Amino acid sequence: MARYTGPVCRLCRREGTKLFLKGERCMTGKCAIDRRSTAPGQHGAANKKAKEYGTQLREKQKTRRYYGVLERQFENYFAEAERQSGMTGENLLVLLERRLDNVVYRMGMAESRKEARQLVLHGHFTLNGKKVTIPSISVKVGDVIAVKEGSRDSAKIKGLMEGVASKLNPKWLEVNKEAVVAKVVALPAREDIDFDFNEQLIVELYSK
Ligand code: SF4
Repeated sequence: MARYTGPVCRLCRREGTKLFLKGERCMTGKCAIDRRSTAPGQHGAANKKAKEYGTQLREKQKTRRYYGVLERQFENYFAEAERQSGMTGENLLVLLERRLDNVVYRMGMAESRKEARQLVLHGHFTLNGKKVTIPSISVKVGDVIAVKEGSRDSAKIKGLMEGVASKLNPKWLEVNKEAVVAKVVALPAREDIDFDFNEQLIVELYSK
C-alpha cells in the first residue's frame, strides 16, 4: 500500500504544529518547526487566512498524519466511529489510539509511531502470545502485548527494551517494565489522548 516516503518534518510544517514523527529529534533544537514554522513550498510563508473548509481539512490531515494512517484507512475509521454510540469525534480518536502500532509506541518500545509500525511489521511482537505483523490491529481490554521471544536477543530490540523503563505510559496501558510486557487494562478515554486535537472539525468536514 502506498505510503508517504518524503521528509516527515515537512508534514509538521504543513500542519503548523509538531506531530512528533521523528522521536528524540522532535525534542531538540534540530526540530524543523522550531527553526522554521512556515508551511513548506514557495508560498508557504504567505499569510493565508484559512477558510472553514481549510481549517477542517487541516485538522483531519493533522490527525491522520499524527497516527500515520492513509486516507482510505482514516475514512474507514471515521465510518466505524459513526456506527458506534457516543460522540463520533471521540470514538474516532479512541479507535486510532487502539491501533497496535500506537500501543507499541505508547508502551515505550519505539521513538515514533513509524518506528513502532516497522517493528510490528517485522514480527517483533506478540499479541496474547501469538506473533503479529499487522500494525492496524485494534487492541481490546485484557490484551497482552509483548516482545517476541526470538527478537529479545537482537541488539536493536535489546536497546529499545532498555529504553522502556524511562518512558511514561498512559493509564489504560499497564506496562511491566522489567519484562517489557504491556496489558490493556481499559480502553483509552478522550482525556488520555495528550495532543491538541479538535475532533469536532473532522466530524464537520465529513458531514458536508
Ligand atoms: Fe515534526 Fe519532529 Fe520534524 Fe519537529 S523534528 S518537525 S516535531 S517530525
